[in-house]
Amino acid sequence: ASGCSLLRDPRYNKGLAFTEGERDAHYLRGLLPPAVFNQELQEKRLMHNLRQYEVPLHRYTALMDLQERNEKLFYKLLIDNVEELLPVVYTPTVGEACQKYGSIFRRPQGLYISLKEKGKILEVLKNWPEKSIQVIVVTDGERILGLGDLGCQGMGIPVGKLSLYTALGGVRPSSCLPVTIDVGTNNEKLLNDEFYIGLRQKRATGKEYEELLEEFMCAVKQNYGEKVLIQFEDFANHNAFDLLEKYRSSHLVFNDDIQGTASVVLAGLLASLKLVGGALADHTFLFLGAGEAGTGIAELIALEISKQTKAPVEETRKKIWLVDSKGLIVSSRLESLQHFKKPWAHEHKPVKGLLDAVKAIKPTVLIGSSGVGKTFTKEVVEAMAALNEKPLILALSNPTSQSECTAEEAYTWSKGKAIFASGSPFDPVEYEGKVFVSGQANNAYIFPGFGLGLIISGAIRVRDEMLLAASEALAAQVSQENYDKGLIYPPFSNIRKISAHIAADVAAKVYDLGLATHLPRPKDLVKYAESCMYSPGYRSYR
Ligand code: NAP
Ligand code: MN
Repeated sequence: ASGCSLLRDPRYNKGLAFTEGERDAHYLRGLLPPAVFNQELQEKRLMHNLRQYEVPLHRYTALMDLQERNEKLFYKLLIDNVEELLPVVYTPTVGEACQKYGSIFRRPQGLYISLKEKGKILEVLKNWPEKSIQVIVVTDGERILGLGDLGCQGMGIPVGKLSLYTALGGVRPSSCLPVTIDVGTNNEKLLNDEFYIGLRQKRATGKEYEELLEEFMCAVKQNYGEKVLIQFEDFANHNAFDLLEKYRSSHLVFNDDIQGTASVVLAGLLASLKLVGGALADHTFLFLGAGEAGTGIAELIALEISKQTKAPVEETRKKIWLVDSKGLIVSSRLESLQHFKKPWAHEHKPVKGLLDAVKAIKPTVLIGSSGVGKTFTKEVVEAMAALNEKPLILALSNPTSQSECTAEEAYTWSKGKAIFASGSPFDPVEYEGKVFVSGQANNAYIFPGFGLGLIISGAIRVRDEMLLAASEALAAQVSQENYDKGLIYPPFSNIRKISAHIAADVAAKVYDLGLATHLPRPKDLVKYAESCMYSPGYRSYR
């Protein structure tokens, strides 16, 4: 091969790190300046450059350029600087990137399947250069973070999620496939934007939508087999629950917004018991937002309490309450509720706003999953602090602009009493001379390790028990040192080790349930998971 093609292929390119010997052997002489850098020096140079950019979106495009130029270096950078770079490739900056995807688009980084490809999806899959795919993250762009319908420009999400599969979970980049299904968009702004990259039409619904998804799901199974993991991401709830229900018995599917979020929040709750005392069953939960995230979390909490107390889940649901855009979900609303809300319609008189719901329900835990920012007002946080010695407040909505409250608000309004975590990161806050560090309650803790666990066991189906195993594994990774700081999640800097533990416990559950095809079962699953992880170090081409 010519030296030039080595330099142009992001999987093999090392830039200035090609050694003298490699430069001789692979016709690279003269194509590179004389200096030879090692990977550490390249990393130092890149981080230095990235830090010069003041605008977050410029950091994002610089990182995407790096990913398309030198894949190993991109992952090395991400792994070694995860806390600094996660907010760039992921929430909040990825949200802005999706909003402006048409303008910043350079090179396709995933597969676009639109209504135009109907009847040809199998062929489209065959156009993708990689043949052995282990994880697909797919969106239809209808509910991107808390930003709404971004149509085809939602592609930033599968791309970002899969880069975390590799960086945080160690899944090989070549076995990851980002997919955006484009059935149109109802976002007028995008439809009128001359740089919009998607189909310029209103969303297809009903039969037309279902048929395209059915064709996609069949083609994926036909092309990649039974063991490819399909992660649904940022679908609107009127499709998300139905798709999960429809395909969970025939495919290896996982909805990150419903199930991954549930697992990460449950982990935080289990860990928080060390700080607030009591058992999970002693708590009362109130959610603002009863969609994918809200009802998904609620159900997993109910399942865990049921597992711990042996009480039936119909009983354990009763300490969990949800508020949607119409107020508290109560039994008198049962008839008109979407099916996923029905299990939460408990006996109570109607309550309109969140503040009144807090006063009526007296929750110990308040969880924001509405996608609407600034909804945990001063009065709401004060009411939580009046009710509880240590109120647990989780503001899950992304990106930062949609967060129910900021970390600073949670700590100052509760006079330092709150235990707080949020979906998008906040800087530490100083309040009355004390520094409060908040955690990031984000499914990025779960899905990379969870997916790795499914892959290494050769799982063919996902079960709720696997989500509980992931939650417990994550909670077990919170150290005393973390608790001393008021944290209910471990820092992301240890995420690869954390992912290996999550993967091992998930895989163990897959084996126990008889859903594993990778046999025999490895003896030490943590070691095995670690040994399977992708390494971003350069290989020698001599
Ligand atoms: P969703 O399915 O659309 O649900 C949103 C829910 O919020 C609905 O029940 C909706 O009520 C309710 N809602 C909307 N506006 C409201 C208001 N003003 N007052 C009260 N309730 C209101 O969305 P989702 O998938 O659950 O996602 C919601 C948010 O969670 C997004 O911002 C997303 O970024 C975030 N999220 C975070 C994570 C994480 O890891 N941290 C993971 C997933 C999602 P109606 O049903 O009445 O319309
Ligand atoms: Mn999501």
